[in-house]
Amino acid sequence: MLSLEEQMLDVAEFLQQSKRIVVLTGAGISTESGIPDFRSPGSHWREHPPVTYHAFLTNAEARQRYWETRRALFPLVAGARPNAAHLALAELERRGNLLGVLTQNFDGLHQDAGLPPEHVIELHGTSREAACQQCGTRSSIEDLQKRIDAGEQDPRCALCDGFLKAATILFGQRVPDNVLERAKELTNQCDLFIVIGSSLKVSPASNLPRLAVKHTTPLIILNLQPTSLDDLADVVIHARAGEILPQIMALSFNESNTRL
Ligand code: NAD
Repeated sequence: MLSLEEQMLDVAEFLQQSKRIVVLTGAGISTESGIPDFRSPGSHWREHPPVTYHAFLTNAEARQRYWETRRALFPLVAGARPNAAHLALAELERRGNLLGVLTQNFDGLHQDAGLPPEHVIELHGTSREAACQQCGTRSSIEDLQKRIDAGEQDPRCALCDGFLKAATILFGQRVPDNVLERAKELTNQCDLFIVIGSSLKVSPASNLPRLAVKHTTPLIILNLQPTSLDDLADVVIHARAGEILPQIMALSFNESNTRL
């Protein structure tokens, strides 16, 4: 069994040898920024599963629960800053070796870390905008949040009277075709696929590493806990992304660390 140091060197070598890297991130990359993930032990979500899209559209009580959850989580997400893992990925992009980051997160922290928005594919949308569920019009999430905080029960779109919510994808809601197609396109083109901070339990995101492996693209998984795709990966590291990624970046920067 390899030591953590040897595993980090392995990943550093892959980074040195790869020119078209794609990274899939999940909620785990943002826990060190203070935003809880879904599936870590003790998670709030295990006891209070999120409202599904169908329930949101059909049930006023479910919409109330949606807004209650958002009221609790909004300050955490709004106050969050990128951590060392987000910054390391922005550094990888500046080196010119990153094709893109496919993220399941809606927190906007990759962009805050300095990744150009065109290099971030938000598979599950963004919590930084509001969207009408009927006509699709985007609007200010701050204004919507103010309406909720002022006691409005079931906010509706001024244009078509559709339900308003954050522009994120709820469970049961489809990832837009153009977004998923772009993610697949990048996965097909990459020469290294890295997963960071995802349990890989949510599809279609969890299908992307499988697609990479189908093309015999090397797969690296950096996640605190085991995932169901660990057996497919060339390197698996179970550690905190914010602690490990900057070290790997430093190792990959120094060519003399490459083993013969
Ligand atoms: P998940 O909760 O299913 O899995 C997160 C994984 O990250 C866990 O396996 C955990 O072991 C690991 N992890 C936790 N802290 C870590 C750290 N510091 N370093 C490395 N790994 C760490 O998350 P998921 O796979 O992204 O899927 C859940 C869904 O939750 C997604 O659809 C996502 O949209 C949504 N979500 C997003 C946010 C966010 O935007 N920050 C937060 C919560 C949930």
